[in-house]
Amino acid sequence: MSPDEAAAYLAEIAYHLRGKEDQHRARAFSKVAASLLRDRPDLEALNRAGKLESLPGVGAGIAKVLRELVSENHSAYLERLREESGEPAAVPAQLTPLVEQGYQGDLHCHTDWSDGGATVLEMALAAQARGYRYLGITDHSPRITVVNGLGPDRLAAQRRVIDEAQQRLGDGFTIFQGIEVDILPDGTLDLDDDTLAGLDLVIASPHLQLRMEPSQMTERMLQAVEHPHVDVIGHPTGRRPGSRAGATYDFDKVFATAASNGVLLEMDCDPARMDLSPELARQALALGCRFALDSDAHYVDQFVYVDLALWMTRKAGIPTEHIVNWLPAAGVRKEFE
Ligand SMILES: [Zn+2]
Ligand SMILES: [Zn+2]
Repeated sequence: MSPDEAAAYLAEIAYHLRGKEDQHRARAFSKVAASLLRDRPDLEALNRAGKLESLPGVGAGIAKVLRELVSENHSAYLERLREESGEPAAVPAQLTPLVEQGYQGDLHCHTDWSDGGATVLEMALAAQARGYRYLGITDHSPRITVVNGLGPDRLAAQRRVIDEAQQRLGDGFTIFQGIEVDILPDGTLDLDDDTLAGLDLVIASPHLQLRMEPSQMTERMLQAVEHPHVDVIGHPTGRRPGSRAGATYDFDKVFATAASNGVLLEMDCDPARMDLSPELARQALALGCRFALDSDAHYVDQFVYVDLALWMTRKAGIPTEHIVNWLPAAGVRKEFE
C-alpha cells in the first residue's frame, strides 16, 4: 500500500475519533497521516523489517493499523468506527497527488503577518513546490486581536511584500492577496468596504459567539452572504469536531442565498475543523452552492490537509466543476472580481 493510500485511511480514522471526542488519539492519527504524505516512507519495506514503529508519531496502536493496511489492504479498526457512526462501509479513495487530480491552488492560508508560522514567500514557495498554480494569502482581520490581525495599513504593507514574492515566483504562479475577515455578531464585517474592495479575495468567517440563538445567527450569516465584497464563507459553522458543535442556523436559507449571490462555501480541510461537514456540504450542493476546498494552513506542512480531506467532497458527492480550486488562476480571479 502506498503512503498516500495509508494516509487516507488514517485521516478517516482521525475524523471518526474526533466525532467520538477522542481528541488526543485523533490528533495522533492526523499527524501520522500528514507525515506519510510528506515523507512518503516505504511502508512495505518497513513492515517486512518490523520497523513501522520507527516512523515519527507511530506507537503500538497506529503501527497495528498500518500493519493491517500494508498486509491486507484493509482496516478492521476503521470498519468498526464506521459501523459505530452508522456509516456504510466504503473504500477510501486513493490519494493521488492533488494536482494530478486537477486541483490548482489553495485559497486560504495564514502567514506570520497574523497567526501563521511562515513568511509569505515561504508559504508561496511551498505551494509552488506542491505543483500549485496559485495561493490565496488570507490572514486575519483586526478583531481577533490575539493573533495580530491586519487593518488597512498593514494590508497595504503586506501587499508590497506579496508583490516582491510574486516577482520571485514568476509568471507561472499567482499570489492572491486576501483576508479572512470576521463576521461580527451583528452580521457586519470587521473591515470597511474600501479596504475589502482593494483585495483579490475576501473570505468571511464566523469565529466568535457561535452559540447565538439560531434565528439571530441566521440573520448574521445572511448579512455576510449578501455582502457585495464577500467571495467565500470560511468554515461556515465554526465547528471543532469533538470539542465544539459549531453554529446552528437556517442552513437552507443561508446556503440558498449564498448560491444565488455567487458566494462560495468553504470546506475547510484542517482536521480540527472539517467544516463544512460532508453532510452539510451535500445539503448545500442540493441548493446549488459552489465550494472552495482549502487547507487553512498556518504553516508550510499544513497544505497537505487538503489531500487528507478530499474524501469529504467525494462523500458529499460534489463534482469538481463545483469547486473553485479546479479553475486556473485567471478563472479564480474572474470568479472573485
Ligand atoms: Zn478562521
Ligand atoms: Zn483561517
